[in-house]
Amino acid sequence: MPDIQKLTPSVINKIAAGEVIERPSSVVKELMENAIDAGATRVDVSLAAGGTELVRVVDNGCGIVTDQLMLAVAPHATSKIREADDLFRVGTLGFRGEALASIAEVSRMVIRSRTSESAAGAELEISGGQLGPIAPCGCPNGTLIEVHNLFFNTPVRRKFLRATQTEMGHSTEAFTRLALAYPDRHFTLRHQEKLVYDLPPTDDWPARIAAFFGAELAGQLIRVESRDGPLKLTGYVANPSHSRANQKMQYLFLNGRAIRDRSLQHALGEAYRGLLLTGRYPVAFLEIEMPPEEVDVNVHPTKLEVRFQDGGRIYSQLLGTLRTRFLTTDLTARLQPAAASPIASADPTAAHDPDHAARLQSELVAWAKGQLGQAIGAVHGSGELSAAALAPPPLPIATPHPSHSSNLSHFPSPPADPFQLVAPPRPQQQPLELVRLDRSRFSAPQWNAVRSLQASHLAASAAATADGVAAHAAKSFHQRPAAIQVHDRYLVAETDEGVVVIDQHALHERVLYEEIREKVLAGALETQRLLVPEPVDLSPAESAAALSEKELLARLGVEIEPFGGGTLLVVGYPAMLSKLRPSELLRSLAAQLLEGGKTPERRDLLDDLLHMIACKAAIKAGDPLSPEEVAALVDQRHLAQDSHHCPHGRPTALVFTRDELDRQFKRT
Ligand code: ADP
Ligand code: MG
Repeated sequence: MPDIQKLTPSVINKIAAGEVIERPSSVVKELMENAIDAGATRVDVSLAAGGTELVRVVDNGCGIVTDQLMLAVAPHATSKIREADDLFRVGTLGFRGEALASIAEVSRMVIRSRTSESAAGAELEISGGQLGPIAPCGCPNGTLIEVHNLFFNTPVRRKFLRATQTEMGHSTEAFTRLALAYPDRHFTLRHQEKLVYDLPPTDDWPARIAAFFGAELAGQLIRVESRDGPLKLTGYVANPSHSRANQKMQYLFLNGRAIRDRSLQHALGEAYRGLLLTGRYPVAFLEIEMPPEEVDVNVHPTKLEVRFQDGGRIYSQLLGTLRTRFLTTDLTARLQPAAASPIASADPTAAHDPDHAARLQSELVAWAKGQLGQAIGAVHGSGELSAAALAPPPLPIATPHPSHSSNLSHFPSPPADPFQLVAPPRPQQQPLELVRLDRSRFSAPQWNAVRSLQASHLAASAAATADGVAAHAAKSFHQRPAAIQVHDRYLVAETDEGVVVIDQHALHERVLYEEIREKVLAGALETQRLLVPEPVDLSPAESAAALSEKELLARLGVEIEPFGGGTLLVVGYPAMLSKLRPSELLRSLAAQLLEGGKTPERRDLLDDLLHMIACKAAIKAGDPLSPEEVAALVDQRHLAQDSHHCPHGRPTALVFTRDELDRQFKRT
């Protein structure tokens, strides 16, 4: 064993530097933090080669008094705390007095600084920890620090630096965090002399967010705000449609310091549970303000992680605030213009031959006007509408149908029943509604007359076709139908805003999920004792796994007993789940329990079971629904807490706003 020796200060500093300064982005962070602590209202950052060749930070803060310049770069020298107790009331970003010393040890550093009291500035150069003389210099109030050739004297670390692009990515991220945390300061970022960001001060946080992540995201942010004693939570979370594949877009700030906190990220994930697909993460910009003595920021060399005195309280506050907020927020996915292309492509004639489309359109308009005139004339003339006035056109007017060929002449010639307003029996697949009259052109009594006439024609045509569908439709046509089912899988409804297309399976699944979950949580899911217990054959492992969750199953109203071998007896089963066979439920549960060998958290298991049950018990895409069923389902939409997403996080509905439709049809 060699002798034990005290390390030289230089080695100590290099070791410390290794902790604090990992790469150029660490320098960006430390220098920007110092500028903010110095009260700067403007901070200009310039980088060369992603920061590996140069990081320059210029601020207009308080500056450093000339005879303290040496101290600033000495290890463990700081103006920010005095005694150990101060560690628990840190109001600045820095306090360890390590950064400048560490950086100076592993780079060539230049500091130029001047306070408002002094007539001139002073300059100091340090190369690999070697201090040069202090020289007077002309400079504005504030501080300039340049860090050249980081790790030039520690080749091993230098080797770990990545391509310029990668380092630039990290450096930009460090810049982003600080610029997000202090929107009231002016920041600029230059790379290779080129301006990357110029962010004037603002009191509008979304404006600063938009500068980094675009106006589209910023426009979809949901404001959150809550207070629990001295604990204040403010900020923005994004609509679920703006989720990400990782947690990088979760910006958490604690008293102005960007932090990472697993527990708070978990709370975010919980709040969005069911709103996002698996593997997707919410976007959030949140600021937590709390008394500094309730948090320990001295647990991590770069202070990225902190320790809360009462982490559980912050966790619950975040989760509770978001949940409450989501209940009062419309999270329906808005169709973006790019995603709206299906509408456009449903009308290929318009895309391919605008002239032709325009001609067709004007013909239709002319025809419609004529019909309307006749209809109104008929009302005026006899007080009753003549049937002919409502006859569909000799021209085929049809809702554009994606599966139809683009050529309009391929549409069926005028339907056999001239008054047919609803779909005839399949498989002819004709348009759902051929005549749509402009309500605003009618007086109330006229409109009623029109509607009842339509209804009686419907009834007549329903009788003529043996198909019951039409009869249902006619009944519900007295009022406008709640929605129309298309392709046996989507429900289309008019809303105040425009048109909503609902995924029938996704919505029903969501409704069922919430209904069952509510009952389970309230302990109110009724079990039905089975007169004849139903045996379910499973493998011994599956059956043991299912039995191990006997109590959980009982909460779901599923009562099982062992019956020897792998067989289980189902003795009680909830009436609500009549669509789901007990064997299917038990097999899925067992598979889930055995999968991967890890024991899932109990809550997750219950939730997974609820998802599975809701999914299996819900109507499927492809199930034809009667108009009553359609109406009932659409009705329930308002009951679900989050009717906008199925439990897997897929949207249950898409809204095509009227504005969007007008735009697509070139009306605006
Ligand atoms: P810390 O920030 O933890 O105090 P640093 O090594 O980052 O440690 O800085 C040491 C000291 O140098 C600071 O406490 C501060 O007094 C001074 N200092 C550093 N940068 C600046 C700056 N941009 N403006 C004014 N003073 C500064
Ligand atoms: Mg510092």
